[in-house]
Amino acid sequence: MRRRVLLAAVPALFAPAILRANEAPQAKRLSLRHVNTGARFNGIWHNGTAPDPVAMVELSGILADSARVLPLPFAPATLEILWRVASQTRLGPELTIHSGYRTPEINRAVNGAGDSQHLRAAALDVEVPTGRVPAVAEAALRLAAGGVGVYARRQFIHLDSGPVRHWRDDGVERAGPFRGTLRLDLGVQPGRLRAEDLTEAGRRLGLDRPVPLGNRVVLPFRL
Ligand SMILES: [Zn+2]
Repeated sequence: MRRRVLLAAVPALFAPAILRANEAPQAKRLSLRHVNTGARFNGIWHNGTAPDPVAMVELSGILADSARVLPLPFAPATLEILWRVASQTRLGPELTIHSGYRTPEINRAVNGAGDSQHLRAAALDVEVPTGRVPAVAEAALRLAAGGVGVYARRQFIHLDSGPVRHWRDDGVERAGPFRGTLRLDLGVQPGRLRAEDLTEAGRRLGLDRPVPLGNRVVLPFRL
């Protein structure tokens, strides 16, 4: 009798661990539309472990600024940034994309920066209602995963997976100064951080004096 009880108890004890092991990784969905072409995507782009190759082909075409150009494979790292920012701020349900991959001709026509990440299919401009710009910008800046351009007057935010940096359009009415911290992973051991590295990181990002924290750096910033 005692033996039977023990055997019966075993599956119950191990059940939570088995369930966790078999649990599927969380699939990531995106719903978006490009204003230039009207092309839409609505579905799973990442299975929780890796980007879905078929969805990436589809998204690469949809995120090109013109239907008449051969698209470049779009950077999954940029879609990850978009997905995280949209999830954290509940932006959507359908995201409106103002610009994605640009050929050099398109980039010149829209007065894009000469070395724009749009040319590498690694940047996108997503529409954000004016009142929500500060919250969405804050979420993007906290990720510290790439470039963040805040265009409040034109109601969009630029996101890319290039070097960590940020900028904003001029002449924007500020609702009030925003203060927060930005964590920048320098990928170095704490003892190997040099004062000049920190100063340089702060200078390049146009931020206040950085404060070292472990192998990361916390940078106070104002938006
Ligand atoms: Zn942009």
